[in-house]
Amino acid sequence: MEFEGGIEAATKRNDSPVIHYLDTVGGGFFENIPDLVEVMVRDAPSIVRWLESLGCIFVKEADGTLRTEFGEGTSRKRVHHARGCLGLEIIRNLYDELCNRGIPILEYLPAIELIMDDTAQVAGAILINLESKKEAIRVRAKTVVLATGGDGQLHYQGFPCADHYGATADGLAMAYRAGLNHCY
Ligand SMILES: Cc1cc2nc3c(=O)[nH]c(=O)nc-3n(C[C@H](O)[C@H](O)[C@H](O)COP(=O)(O)OP(=O)(O)OC[C@H]3O[C@@H](n4cnc5c(N)ncnc54)[C@H](O)[C@@H]3O)c2cc1C
Repeated sequence: MEFEGGIEAATKRNDSPVIHYLDTVGGGFFENIPDLVEVMVRDAPSIVRWLESLGCIFVKEADGTLRTEFGEGTSRKRVHHARGCLGLEIIRNLYDELCNRGIPILEYLPAIELIMDDTAQVAGAILINLESKKEAIRVRAKTVVLATGGDGQLHYQGFPCADHYGATADGLAMAYRAGLNHCY
């Protein structure tokens, strides 16, 4: 196979977000949350264009259009790729974009607990300094977005998973401890 992995988006004339939706729901054995699939397939083409505008180097056809390939369960060639390096491309460009916009990035400081205010709203988080292993930092925030990944290493029902060893759903556990048990 010429490439490995990539990002699906209905960017070609013979494709559409509706066909992408049907492929995704069928491929998920109808277990997907329909509203989330709808947002994903609708936004995917503009996300690909946005990533390209940031500088992500997608593989192109000779005429300059984006090359697409079949993926698992896709009825159309819909996978945009960077010869197996698309994840790296996305992270590299998003990191640069955060720097360009002056958004501070705190590394080696994982969140260990959410801070709640008197009205039971999330008001920030406690971070721990992984280098000193002692220092805890309190960060106050108007809005908190948890993007701490999934639960691959929990291996529900013996499900095999190649996720990295950090994918242990500790963000979900933090949210659960804070009483936020009905978020997506
Ligand atoms: C080998 C492999 C190949 C894949 N190939 C593809 C592919 O080709 N196409 C595709 O669409 N998907 C692919 N996937 C799946 C895809 O990588 C994941 O679905 C996706 O990365 C999940 O994104 P996420 O933002 O939810 O979580 P993640 O990418 O896991 O990001 C979560 C981040 O949160 C950080 N974090 C965790 N806990 C804390 C904490 N307490 N405090 C602060 N930070 C924390 C983690 O360090 C991590 O950086 C692949 C996965 C694997 C393992």
